[in-house]
Amino acid sequence: MHITHLETDNFKSFGRKTKIPLFPGFTVISGPNGSGKSNIIDSILFVLALSSSRSLRAERLTDLINLNSGKNTAEVELTFSDGTVIKRRIKRTDSTYYNYLYLNGRPCRQGDLLEFLAQRGIVPHGYNVVMQGDINRIIEMSDLERRKIIDEIAGVAEFDQKKALAFVE
Ligand code: ATP
Ligand code: MG
Repeated sequence: MHITHLETDNFKSFGRKTKIPLFPGFTVISGPNGSGKSNIIDSILFVLALSSSRSLRAERLTDLINLNSGKNTAEVELTFSDGTVIKRRIKRTDSTYYNYLYLNGRPCRQGDLLEFLAQRGIVPHGYNVVMQGDINRIIEMSDLERRKIIDEIAGVAEFDQKKALAFVE
């Protein structure tokens, strides 16, 4: 199971509708500095609803809306190899912003998406993506911090948390 393609509309530097294919196994995206490579990763994280705007390299969620188009919405749609399509859209108004989530074209709640993703091993706050600069951070962190990441990837951390909770109860 993998993401076969994503479609962005007015997301960050992608002012126009853009369709980006991802292949089974390995896909390499190359381009000059500032051309939008990391923005593609941001667009995936945006839909997976896994990240705060901070880990998306944006101060505010509305910073993800393309600056030059004059439009007040941004959206990204991910298509999985089993045909499932999930989409997230944000809309800016004068005072706030609205969030819309869709599962196979139908509006859904965040819980529905999280459940769909959890069944596929994608959990919020999990270490799903190695971001730019992470490698240096991982090399420079303490042994204990590095161990925590490995526990999380191996799925041990979840049980440690449950065990700690059980002791409290
Ligand atoms: P590098 O090789 O340096 O890592 P990159 O290809 O990963 O570069 P990105 O970080 O994806 O580049 O893209 C940065 C570009 O995206 C900047 O030029 C920035 O101005 C642009 N950008 C970010 N947010 C928006 C936005 N809301 N509207 C328009 N452009 C944006
Ligand atoms: Mg980058």
